[in-house]
Amino acid sequence: MSAIDGKVVAITGASSGIGEATARLLAERGAAVVLGARRTERLERLTADIRAQGGRAAACQIDVTRQADLNRLVERAVADFGRLDVLVGNAGISKISPVAALDVDGWSAMIDVNLRGVLHGIAAALPVFREQGEGHLVTTLSTAGLKISPTMAIYAGTKNAVRTLLEGLRQESTDGTLRTTSISPGFVGTELASSIDNPVAREGIQRRMDAFAIPPAAVASAIAFAIEQPRDVEVGDITIRPTVQD
Ligand code: NDP
Repeated sequence: MSAIDGKVVAITGASSGIGEATARLLAERGAAVVLGARRTERLERLTADIRAQGGRAAACQIDVTRQADLNRLVERAVADFGRLDVLVGNAGISKISPVAALDVDGWSAMIDVNLRGVLHGIAAALPVFREQGEGHLVTTLSTAGLKISPTMAIYAGTKNAVRTLLEGLRQESTDGTLRTTSISPGFVGTELASSIDNPVAREGIQRRMDAFAIPPAAVASAIAFAIEQPRDVEVGDITIRPTVQD
């Protein structure tokens, strides 16, 4: 039996890509998954698929830019499955372009989803974790934050802000209640390029994705690895990228 069996895991950005693959894998291994994103139809389809295979899943339409929506996601986990063991803060957008293009709206959107969205998840989940005496926060960051490339400065900044935030939270939480994990994927074959408005940047990312991206299931395995460790073992950071990525 997997150590994931019986855990309750809420996932933001579960309607496609890494979030969807993570939901499928964790449900296969016996977790109850609560799926959050904006596209309800996708969530409903995924929920139905998981249930048809004998898994436990619930769909919850959320926009991570709204605190109330994250509160609802966590409440749904507790209402439907009795507790919340893990929150995977995975929702993200990548409105990349050169800083000099001054895409101020794109910058704000990335800050709202990639940074504020994770903060909203933390604010919703921490009280439940404290009450239970345990909980695990997993977030999806990016290798874009480890090797800073042109067009990716603001995107990388939002991801690295979360990296910093989690390390601070970890140091405040060494009483054994909270585990934190940052997953930094490289190129993964998902729909992420569709959130890029700048056509040159979008084409460049899409070309590299088509050439060598790894499947979302590879990242899901890394997330599962962090979750299945015993309670006294915290996997802090995982970087997972295509072998040929520079
Ligand atoms: P996808 O575009 O396939 O998935 C992004 C997910 O985020 C979707 O489920 C989308 O759902 C959700 N989302 C976006 N905005 C919001 C919002 N405001 N509220 C709620 N959900 C939202 O891409 P990935 O699977 O690749 O992205 C997942 C994470 O992985 C992101 O944080 C991304 O930055 C990160 N990442 C991806 C890499 C890659 O190469 N693909 C590399 C490194 C990191 P919906 O539109 O239905 O709301």
